[in-house]
Amino acid sequence: MKKLKILIIFLFCSQAYGLEFNGKFTQGGLIIGKTNPSDKIFLDEKPLKISPSGNFVFGISRERSKDLKIEIKSKSSSKILTKKITKRKFRIQRIDGLPKRKVTPNEEDMKRIRKEGRLIVKAKNINSNFDFFSNGFIRPLKGITTGVYGSQRILNGKKRRPHYGIDIASPKGTPIKSPNDGKVVLAERDLFFTGGTLMIDHGHGLISIYSHLENLKVERNQQIKKGQIIGTVGSTGRSTGPHLDFRLYWNNIAVDPDLVFN
Ligand SMILES: [Zn+2]
Repeated sequence: MKKLKILIIFLFCSQAYGLEFNGKFTQGGLIIGKTNPSDKIFLDEKPLKISPSGNFVFGISRERSKDLKIEIKSKSSSKILTKKITKRKFRIQRIDGLPKRKVTPNEEDMKRIRKEGRLIVKAKNINSNFDFFSNGFIRPLKGITTGVYGSQRILNGKKRRPHYGIDIASPKGTPIKSPNDGKVVLAERDLFFTGGTLMIDHGHGLISIYSHLENLKVERNQQIKKGQIIGTVGSTGRSTGPHLDFRLYWNNIAVDPDLVFN
């Protein structure tokens, strides 16, 4: 009886706040939520963007272990939620046979890499008012997963940054779909590491990245729809075979795409 009472109070409270979280509170998780548009939400003391329909989004980093502090302020009240973050074990992945220049670039390459890096960072820092993220994400490509989020990479025997994307292998030329509505914010045919590369803005700092494409089917600044063909699978840039490297960043924090598809 006591338990039931608590449950009823809990349901009542969460309804009163009209607050909803979708997603896993885990390392690499992406939380897509809804609240009263007039509420204010603070994540670790920083204000979250809330759309006119009450949608919001935030990501949890691979390294996060501290509880999340979420504060919800409405006109009449304020409430603090503490969310535990489930820890994960990440794999070690060794890849050999990559061209030496792609693992240890020369001085000339480094100039190019830095210039291209600035383009990518600029696109990752976009924080638009779109709330396309609330429509749900589909897989951009069917195929075998050959690389997962978070694994520690050892390339040609050298320790490199963790892998922040998922790799999906598929034959060269296979069409890639946009996982959600969005706006193309970067479309480059030949970047040093990622080859044919697209970046799509889904709103509130949520940006998806597609690498190693053979062909791009959309242009920068183009608005696109969920399921629209945006390019084809290739093996351009630092790659050992045809596959799509798909990444999702929220305000520059890489999250796990596998936790996002519905
Ligand atoms: Zn990859």
